[in-house]
Amino acid sequence: MKDTTLIIANANIWTGNPDQPQARAMAIAGDKILAVGSTAEIIKLAGAKTKTIDANGRFIVPGFHDAHLHFLSGGFNLASVQLRTAESKEEFVRRIAEYTKTIEPGTWITGGDWDHTLWGGELPTKDWIDTVAPDNPVWVNRLDGHMALANSLALAAGGVDASTADIAGGTIVRDTDGNPTGILKDNAMDPVTRVEPEPPDSLKFRALKAAMKYVNRQGVTSIGHMGTWDDLRIFQAGYKQGLFTTRVSANVPLSTWKRLEEKITAEGNGDEWLRWGGLKSFMDGSLGSHTAAFFEPFIDDTNNTGLLVNDPEELYALYQAADAAGLQLATHAIGDRAISIILDLYSRVADVNGDRDRRFRIEHSQHIHPKDFVRYRDLDVIASMQPYHCIDDGRWAEPYIGYERCKTTYAFRTLAEHGVTMSFGSDWYVAPPTPIEGIYAAVTRRTLDDKNPNGWIPEEKLTVNEALRAYTIDAAYATFEENIKGSLEPGKLADFVVIDKDLTTIPPETIRDAEVVMTIVNGKVVFEK
Ligand SMILES: [Zn+2]
Repeated sequence: MKDTTLIIANANIWTGNPDQPQARAMAIAGDKILAVGSTAEIIKLAGAKTKTIDANGRFIVPGFHDAHLHFLSGGFNLASVQLRTAESKEEFVRRIAEYTKTIEPGTWITGGDWDHTLWGGELPTKDWIDTVAPDNPVWVNRLDGHMALANSLALAAGGVDASTADIAGGTIVRDTDGNPTGILKDNAMDPVTRVEPEPPDSLKFRALKAAMKYVNRQGVTSIGHMGTWDDLRIFQAGYKQGLFTTRVSANVPLSTWKRLEEKITAEGNGDEWLRWGGLKSFMDGSLGSHTAAFFEPFIDDTNNTGLLVNDPEELYALYQAADAAGLQLATHAIGDRAISIILDLYSRVADVNGDRDRRFRIEHSQHIHPKDFVRYRDLDVIASMQPYHCIDDGRWAEPYIGYERCKTTYAFRTLAEHGVTMSFGSDWYVAPPTPIEGIYAAVTRRTLDDKNPNGWIPEEKLTVNEALRAYTIDAAYATFEENIKGSLEPGKLADFVVIDKDLTTIPPETIRDAEVVMTIVNGKVVFEK
């Protein structure tokens, strides 16, 4: 028998394994779980070199798997200059000066998320920062993304000067002599944004590291990344450099399915740290921008039923070919019409290509037409959803689409009752990659403004057990990895999280206050509070 490297004793373990739902202790051998049971049983497996952690009765769950996010974008925000909490002009300038010292001359400084209301409302100008960042173009945005500050180098790169004409739908803020101050608003941001270069690899690795570390703090041990081939290149290089503390499943654009097929033929699907095989595509836009595709018009925009961002027949041709090559399809669909069309297309693909274990995914699955729940089940389509969006959108969705359609919005309960597999995620950087908040959202449906104390559309709440499954074993199912992770049982990867409170027994409204105290990936502690 393999040597036990780690024992977790006196814990309150939610295993996710229906044959042994609860346990008190766990023995780990290297990267895998050796045994799960009572503390008395497990202690017997200790050897001379075994490390033992007394969990003091704390709650342990399988490592969280965030099924849909944009990992490197999130990482860039973390790794770039942090201006969100700068509360004075001096602090704003100091942080840019400090950050400048950590990068090569010529590298653009972006992100920031500053908020000028924190220092009384004066808009920053290029004169504040030109001397502290003389060799780096600076292009830092306000937290809402509707305006940004450029230094002189960035303005020059974008060709914006006193002679630049005003831009429709935007503002070039100018001084009394007509010279740009560095603040560009809305469409006037385009000239600089257009010339902003791709960040150097050194910054991409910094973003990768920052993202890994950050999600580990939230108890996340696996992520599903939606991105590009260049992202996958960074993941592969980062993995080789030993930067991985989070397992990654990388999706690439559907239009590149042939390249993905060739990669799999040459290299396989990757391994338990980094895998590929999924293809992402889009059917519609978003609810907030009135571009999600619905059967009926928006209530507040009665000529508009949203838009399809791809031609369904063109998508079908790509789907059919990619599916025949054994690849997995994941499609963004928000409105009920977009979802229905995807289900039509998936059903045709399954008819033409025949039965196989294909695990179609619909990303977001936000507004499902009542007739379509049964089709999710019959086609075994995974609803890949982000519960945090529910308590965000719940504040403002009803005037857009009316109560009737809201009733099947983020319809967790109806999906569960139909036996549909849900995999949960965050869509980070759009929302925070915090599974505990996601569980809170799915279980309480209390909107972020706290105006729905009993939950927005309370009939659609999930139980904590169901939400935990969607963040663990069912998210693993969505990447064909349920046999190696997603529950705590012998033989599976030793990925788990220690939480300070038992999420299944505390009052649901307090779930969001629970904290991750330790995260273990591959049998090693990657975060400890
Ligand atoms: Zn997304």
